[in-house]
Amino acid sequence: MPLITDKERLDEALELLWVLNEDQHHDISHFKTNSDDADTESIVETLLHEGLASILGAEIRLTEKGLKSARGLIRRQRLAERLFTDVFEMPEDSVVNDACKMEHILSEELTESVCTFLGHPPNCPHGKPIPRGECCKKFKVEVTPVVMRLSEFEVSAAGKITFIVPSEASRISKLNSLGIAAGSTIKLIQKTPSYVVQIDETTVALDPEIAKEIYVRKVVS
Ligand SMILES: [Zn+2]
Ligand SMILES: [Zn+2]
Repeated sequence: MPLITDKERLDEALELLWVLNEDQHHDISHFKTNSDDADTESIVETLLHEGLASILGAEIRLTEKGLKSARGLIRRQRLAERLFTDVFEMPEDSVVNDACKMEHILSEELTESVCTFLGHPPNCPHGKPIPRGECCKKFKVEVTPVVMRLSEFEVSAAGKITFIVPSEASRISKLNSLGIAAGSTIKLIQKTPSYVVQIDETTVALDPEIAKEIYVRKVVS
């Protein structure tokens, strides 16, 4: 079998393996690239040859080296997805292809800036976890992000909602019906004993849990 020299294809294989492993699918039968069996075989062989994956019995897993590369790729891809949906307001289902190209373009430095700009989001728009970067560790102490959780706002601060990461999917439509959606301007009226926010002319009380799930770009006054 010839080894694969195309870096982009190898990257895609690493991403695929990451996603399969994330879903606890370690069996090699799950690993299928979008082309034929011979192609999949070449890719597997290349991954083994490069020390990026290892096979034990019927299971294929990323090695330490493979995990490191895949982690970076997945991080860039999912951040790019967030960037497209939250900032450019593109529909979620159309972002994957563009995001797939972006991950090969985003440099490590640019990735940190994008992550910081977005407020170190924990999930992609599809709810998959975004691997943490160095910037996320510094988040609390050094970096003042452009986007913050509503729960970190001071009283009377206002901003524009950039995204909502609900722990329950059903919450989104409930919040949307209250006018709490990406793009709305929100003002924090009080924090204790409960959160009260103003959206347009309406005031709404929120559980602290929910205030943590709303990410807002602060309006600098
Ligand atoms: Zn995604
Ligand atoms: Zn970060």
